[in-house]
Amino acid sequence: MSLIHLLKMSGLRPKKGLGQNFLVDDGIAEQIAEAAWAQAQGPLVEIGPGIGSLTLPLLRRAQQVWAVEQDAALLPLLRTRTEGLGQLVVEQGDALLVDFRQWAERLGRPLTIVANLPYHVSTPILFHLLAQGAAVGAMILMFQKEVAERIAAPPGGKTYGILSVHSQLWMAVEPLFAVPPKAFYPSPKVDSSVIRLVRRAAPLAQVDDPDFFRLVVRAAFGQRRKTLLNALKVIDPSPEAWLSRADIDPQRRGETLAVVEFVRLANVR
Ligand code: SAM
Repeated sequence: MSLIHLLKMSGLRPKKGLGQNFLVDDGIAEQIAEAAWAQAQGPLVEIGPGIGSLTLPLLRRAQQVWAVEQDAALLPLLRTRTEGLGQLVVEQGDALLVDFRQWAERLGRPLTIVANLPYHVSTPILFHLLAQGAAVGAMILMFQKEVAERIAAPPGGKTYGILSVHSQLWMAVEPLFAVPPKAFYPSPKVDSSVIRLVRRAAPLAQVDDPDFFRLVVRAAFGQRRKTLLNALKVIDPSPEAWLSRADIDPQRRGETLAVVEFVRLANVR
């Protein structure tokens, strides 16, 4: 029976407010599960399993999957569909409130996170996952295409920004493949992309003060068209000496700075 039919038979309607665009293309679900399995050094954790489009192929490979799903109404169908396939441990709740460091500690290994993320909270969830430090070893995540491009962007272009710097500092980011709207029910109006983020053995550079680093990155991209000399004035009214200590041309724009240059800039302040 098709997933759409199954949803209807179960009296379930996709909830827009929870970003419920269910994957209905089995081939793509297999591809994502395979990418996650190839990467998995530790427990597989799915965010937002929904009614199991990814969970089924994940369980077939790993036999054990941990998950967090916000919508309690989906859990009975998820349980029925995954019965006999292995062990699925689902916590009902908001992924943004989950302390994945505790999960990694309990399970004894860094987690591999896999998700077809609800688009409305995909960026906060990514930041939340980045904040879990070494507890998250790898992530295979589906985003709206434009967001995936921003995460993976190199310096110098329009798409390079806060998301790119914070993701790439800690993770090696690689775009995997594109997913068209017709792969989902209901079809979103946007294209999607799957990316892989693998935690580096060490960050690209050591950040002395993470809060100040975040402030510098935010200021540099706050007004993208400004030179650093002007953009950094929100932190230092005359940033010439600071930029000179960092050996960075004050006429450059934030979007031209490599991740390691952002770290240098923040560290020499
Ligand atoms: N993994 C399923 C699939 O691929 O068909 C569902 C993906 S759907 C895009 C997003 C899923 O995340 C939904 O099941 C939704 O209920 C759930 N969700 C939304 N917000 C969430 C949150 N903050 N924490 C955990 N799950 C959430």
